[in-house]
Amino acid sequence: MLVVMQQGATEEQIDNVIERLTDLGFDVHRSTGVIHTVLGGVGGKEEFDLDVFELMEGVKEAHRITSPYKLSSRSFRPGGTVVKIRDVEIGAARVVAMAGPCSVENRDQIERSAEIVASGGARVIRGGAFQPSNSPYAFRGLGEEGLKMLREAADRRGLLVVSEVMDQAQIPLVAQYADILQVGARNMQNFTLLRELGKRRMPVLLKRGISATIEELLLSAEYIMSGGNYDVILCERGIRTFETYTRYTMDISAIPVVKKLSHLPIVADPSHGTGRRDKVVPVARAAVAAGADGLLVEVHPEPDRALADGAQSLRPEQFQEMMRQLRIIAPAVERSI
Ligand code: PEP
Ligand code: MN
Repeated sequence: MLVVMQQGATEEQIDNVIERLTDLGFDVHRSTGVIHTVLGGVGGKEEFDLDVFELMEGVKEAHRITSPYKLSSRSFRPGGTVVKIRDVEIGAARVVAMAGPCSVENRDQIERSAEIVASGGARVIRGGAFQPSNSPYAFRGLGEEGLKMLREAADRRGLLVVSEVMDQAQIPLVAQYADILQVGARNMQNFTLLRELGKRRMPVLLKRGISATIEELLLSAEYIMSGGNYDVILCERGIRTFETYTRYTMDISAIPVVKKLSHLPIVADPSHGTGRRDKVVPVARAAVAAGADGLLVEVHPEPDRALADGAQSLRPEQFQEMMRQLRIIAPAVERSI
């Protein structure tokens, strides 16, 4: 359930409501908005009278939330969530470009990648050091050595780092080097991993599973948030359909749907969404036009030699051209990039 406090409600009034919710067995999550404080109660009794809350001092209104996800629902934070990492804000007016190779391969490759993405205007560099792959024989990533190279390349250019964690045992290590922990599509419903990430106070980029519904994506976000970590960034990266021309089918409509259902920022990954370099830029344009808060794009200095996902990695000049086009499109939807 949700209790929306009146504008200017006192801390004492808020505490009284928290106490009453706790008495009824709810775990209480607090969202302090610019105007209203919202208290989300999860997991408590089904049977209780909403009037009890509506009549309390300082309460504006109380609602039962009918959706299965509560903390990730828009009503918990009607104004939207901005995930702030140093001077980068994800979910604010500026669309955030996150770009880099699928995997960190060697120092030269990651330094050149960092140069390309920074000069094009990206704020975050991506790169896997622990690599999920459909085949056990594919490149598995450089592990800690790769994370070190990625961090150094990023720091030289003032970039943030996003990198994947495949299981909970990797969290402490990846967290030492990355600013954002990525949960890959194949792990969207790895509930042990999600619970563990909920205990951290560190942003998580949660990718939609290839056959997951939007509701399931929001429920996975709920796993993280119910642990108290509210800095979740959702990512639409394409779903599996009967179409085979593209690697997956990029669900652009998921962007406005998520915007309505949830307060969490959502970024689009047109690289995995299409699997083909020549389709990445048009789909990136569509994602920004549809309201994406950011883009996660694979770029490689020499895609033909890439150890992973070369076919969908943009060439350096394509990345620059994409950013140029997005700078024209973003203002049409009241954004910048
Ligand atoms: C990736 O970002 O390189 C990746 C493996 O993505 P996904 O989990 O969406 O397949
Ligand atoms: Mn990839």
